[in-house]
Amino acid sequence: MSHTHNYDVVVVGAGNAALCAAIAAKEGGASVLVLEKGSIEKRGGNSYFTDGAIRVAYNNLDAIRKIIPKLTDDEAANIVMPEYTEQDYYDDLMRVTSGKSDPQLGQQLVSKSYDTIAWMQNQGINFELNYDNQSFLQDGKRHFWGGLPIKTENKGVGLIKKLFERAQELSIEIWYDSRAIKLNKEDEQITGVVVQKENESITVNTFGVILACGSFEANKNWRSEHIGEEWEAAIVRGTEFNTGDGITMALEVGAQKYGEWEGCHSIGTDYNAPKVGDFAKPGDIFKKHSYPYSIMLNKDGKRFVDEGADLRNYTYAKYGREILKQPGHVAYQLYDAQVRPMLRKEYDLEEATFFQADTLEELVNLLPVDKKQFLDTVSEYNRAVEEGEYKPAEKDGKGTKGITPLKSNWALRIEQGPFYAFPVTCGITFSFGGLHVDTTGHVLDAREEPINGLFAAGEMIGGIFYENYPGGSGLMSGAVFGKLAGASAANYINRERTELAK
Ligand SMILES: Cc1cc2nc3c(=O)[nH]c(=O)nc-3n(C[C@H](O)[C@H](O)[C@H](O)COP(=O)(O)OP(=O)(O)OC[C@H]3O[C@@H](n4cnc5c(N)ncnc54)[C@H](O)[C@@H]3O)c2cc1C
Repeated sequence: MSHTHNYDVVVVGAGNAALCAAIAAKEGGASVLVLEKGSIEKRGGNSYFTDGAIRVAYNNLDAIRKIIPKLTDDEAANIVMPEYTEQDYYDDLMRVTSGKSDPQLGQQLVSKSYDTIAWMQNQGINFELNYDNQSFLQDGKRHFWGGLPIKTENKGVGLIKKLFERAQELSIEIWYDSRAIKLNKEDEQITGVVVQKENESITVNTFGVILACGSFEANKNWRSEHIGEEWEAAIVRGTEFNTGDGITMALEVGAQKYGEWEGCHSIGTDYNAPKVGDFAKPGDIFKKHSYPYSIMLNKDGKRFVDEGADLRNYTYAKYGREILKQPGHVAYQLYDAQVRPMLRKEYDLEEATFFQADTLEELVNLLPVDKKQFLDTVSEYNRAVEEGEYKPAEKDGKGTKGITPLKSNWALRIEQGPFYAFPVTCGITFSFGGLHVDTTGHVLDAREEPINGLFAAGEMIGGIFYENYPGGSGLMSGAVFGKLAGASAANYINRERTELAK
């Protein structure tokens, strides 16, 4: 039996960008269908796997308190919260992307960030302070730094739970195990989406489609073709479903490619992390982000980056790809007993893979590395460490001299047992290449004209992130452009309806 399905707006995907889009479209008066390729247990996309850190421009602690109303006066009195203006955010974006980010899209991201967070809060999403990773204790006060003081309560899991609750409250329909495979277009207008649902091919009629179904990081062939052959070997940190379907469908109806197709975000992740994100283990638990306090050695027993070049926020995304270039795509973060207690929480999880021994000689015997070179590299490094005050919470300039690569900060001799080696490999987070949208989320064609009825948001839009991204901007971009795309799609439908009624 065949059914006819008609919705004003169809949203493809059910991650952060998609659900923000669906809610905004519904608020704009549209009837909305959400299509999710995964099952109900595997919904939520990469957004589900996140730490929930979300980068927003704000003026002061009062602005933060509006977003986190449960923050008490006593708690607030012990916080130092430097402002993070729209200009600061914009400058960070331009700095980490070497000035390549599209100025209009970048401006839209930063200028709409605070209002969008306030809107998310109105939808029922709770935020909290990011004490663990973005603050340090000094003179009895918590000092926040780096423009990333807030995260969603209960990480990405909490964000997705609240977004689905809101979607349900608004009676937004959601189909699971439903993969969008094709867009229908007639007379220069999107007219429907073809959906593969339980071996059935179903056409949903609509005048507005919002693609928010991720980029192509989970597609081995595309990774290899666009980013580089070695990327076939990368671990996929998030959902298995972001295989570029939305991009393919949009290109088929004339959309323009945009952004850095040969670029992606990646990090050093536990060597034994699942090959694709395991929905039973969300919360970004496999990263290994204390490497600035380590030295990293490859299988040949050699160092290959300046582990202490900068604060972690500014190097972690680059160093994933450096690890991928090493023999066997593996590196060992080496720590001694002085540093071990300072490592981040993820190093204490039962999922963390590590080797431990009382002496370096015993440790190296446990590792599949060039043992002599490994020990020589550690000795050479120890000899090169310069004197100075070690300050783990700030760039301390305590570096090395006369070795390549240098270690510019946080250089301590590795000399007190027990010693620890944490094996890491490269995990891809998301790819940067995607579609071209205007500042309202409308997808543009080769002439840079909007394709009638086609919108996009989230990871799948190109042009904002190149080479790197300021941490926490992925969720913010998804929310800002998701909300904009939802509102634009609803407006578009309303205009079309008015035209038809004439
Ligand atoms: C481990 C990890 C930690 C991260 N931590 C952070 C962080 O703390 N802060 C931050 O800002 N960013 C973080 N990121 C990046 C962040 O996850 C992304 O930038 C953001 O979530 C992308 O949101 P999205 O809605 O565009 O995509 P997603 O959340 O991936 O949603 C895409 C959805 O589309 C669905 N889909 C795909 N193809 C189809 C199809 N053909 N039909 C129907 N549905 C389809 C997928 O199943 C999925 O539900 C992290 C990423 C990972 C993997």
